[in-house]
Amino acid sequence: MSLPAHLEQLDIGECAIDIEISNATYHIRLHSLDLHIYKEQTRLVRKDGREFKPIGHIYNSSMHILKLQFYNKIRPGFYTLDIKYTVKQSLGKKPGFIFKEFLVKEMNKTKLLATAFQSIEARRVFPCWDEPALKATFEININHHKTYKVLSNVPTTNVITDAIKENYLWTSFNITSMISTRDVAIAITDAMGNSNKCDIVNQWSRFHSQYILIQFATDIMDYIFNEQCDFFDWKVDVNIFQLKEIVIPGIEHDVIGKPGLIIYKEELFIYDAEIDNVAHKMEIARAIAHGITHHWLDPVIPSFWWSHQWLNEAFIILSRTEILNQAFPEWRLLDLFVVQIQHEALHLDIDFCIEPLTSAISTPSEIQSLFSYSFYLKAPAMLRMLQHVISSGGFKQLSKMYLNMSPFSPGNLLFAMHVYLNISEKYYIYSIKDMDEWITQSSYPIVEVIRTNSSTVLIRQYPYYLNRDSILDNKVSDKRRIPITVTTKSTLNCFNTKPHYWLIPRFQENITVHINESDWIIVNLQQIGYYRVIYDHINWKLITNYLNSEEYKNIHILNRAQLIDDAYHFWVANRLKYEMFKEITQYLHQETDYVAWYPMFQALRYISQFLPFQEIEPLKVNSHKFNK
Ligand SMILES: [Zn+2]
Repeated sequence: MSLPAHLEQLDIGECAIDIEISNATYHIRLHSLDLHIYKEQTRLVRKDGREFKPIGHIYNSSMHILKLQFYNKIRPGFYTLDIKYTVKQSLGKKPGFIFKEFLVKEMNKTKLLATAFQSIEARRVFPCWDEPALKATFEININHHKTYKVLSNVPTTNVITDAIKENYLWTSFNITSMISTRDVAIAITDAMGNSNKCDIVNQWSRFHSQYILIQFATDIMDYIFNEQCDFFDWKVDVNIFQLKEIVIPGIEHDVIGKPGLIIYKEELFIYDAEIDNVAHKMEIARAIAHGITHHWLDPVIPSFWWSHQWLNEAFIILSRTEILNQAFPEWRLLDLFVVQIQHEALHLDIDFCIEPLTSAISTPSEIQSLFSYSFYLKAPAMLRMLQHVISSGGFKQLSKMYLNMSPFSPGNLLFAMHVYLNISEKYYIYSIKDMDEWITQSSYPIVEVIRTNSSTVLIRQYPYYLNRDSILDNKVSDKRRIPITVTTKSTLNCFNTKPHYWLIPRFQENITVHINESDWIIVNLQQIGYYRVIYDHINWKLITNYLNSEEYKNIHILNRAQLIDDAYHFWVANRLKYEMFKEITQYLHQETDYVAWYPMFQALRYISQFLPFQEIEPLKVNSHKFNK
């Protein structure tokens, strides 16, 4: 692929695509968007040199598909498809691109144009089969003004002067290994500082001379590289994608991680010990770990049709969290994951009616709509649930197995799980079908826990959007297979997060648990399951009394946080009385753990937007105490 690039505009580009035609055909279809194709120059060349010119270029604008129609039937074999084209709009304004001008030192302005492909943007730069499951090798040549430097996934092979255009160069790159079109990365910039850290990492930023500001980021990077090696116990040939990093201020994305090229938002890269706090350190670490995890895993992660893309992002986020947690256990990132990612997902899932993680998709806009925050919040929360169903040790082994699957094997992470679970008989069998209910249905279930008499408790589910009165409605289609874990006051143990019971539509609609009369019960230990739990009045009361006693710490921190978050949610949804919510939160006067306070801070943030009433004053007073 050859692209002549000015910063704002591409000239004529040329693609030479090597393809194998396996069945005789009259036409070839591929993706293209906003490209002007020089039709008379399109040709298909067979390996023996015979040339075929299409008699028609038919474009389907709603599906972004260009169909090349041939007069003769094209026989099976190896061909090269040559297409010449120009990009219709200026690249910097297109979705999937960053164009940024910023100051370096006092007055020197620097420009940067870079790809930031998320889903289906590659087709705006070159005609291609723009689907994640179709990986290919890429050999890229860029024509550009000599004041610019061009970076791509792989190292530069050579730079030569353009024979025709004065002051122009051709920069050529090595051939990549197999990657998806959306993993292709190109960046063009002038005069950025380059601090060659070592053979495998090159960095471009405004701060190469002020090392102190990027030192934390650089240290984190070294650390994560080593931790990743350990975590996946898996030797990566780092030379395939020698890593280049660009740090730019004021971009919309926190990080764009592609194999060999990571672009960081400057604000999430520099750490100034004089003014920044530890929360900022965490943000930097997360951004860096995210970028590097993409760099490492994207080329090897098996890729599938769009409907399974949520799994890849979830896998990246969970891996990133696990790896950082090993490096910085004192940050408690696994706990923060629950209150910051899972709680946020549970709120947004209802407030913004998030679409299911996967659905029958085919059109470009349906594909793009998949890449919402559900990918970054709900998907990892869902994967965490699975992780605990099979045990976290299992997850590590599973990860290794997943990454060692061939990129062309007929499955995905769920398939790997299936294989894994079948191998390990002792784990619960959790089939792909069971997972389907969670990813094809929107929102989440409510698990209801009610005391039926002094010594028994009944646990059952109902879909979120139904109220309790409709539970008896025997509709099972919206129900799911739910892992249930419980603890009671007298059998207190919040650490066994492997499912104790399952709620199974049609087969196990109710679970009965025997408890002592004075016992409370808590369901969903460490909030492993992606659902909320509502109790009856007596149980809320018993829990509240316990939380207000000196023993409150015996309830796991994640369950304390869950009780606050669920109670807040049910109060706002009119399913719990305000007095009850207030009583539960009053225990916070003795709570010193930030993780339990986190949902309360979030609740206060929401409440203060629409309820500037006196009623919330007591809650504010409590939170002030904590702030001091
Ligand atoms: Zn990502």
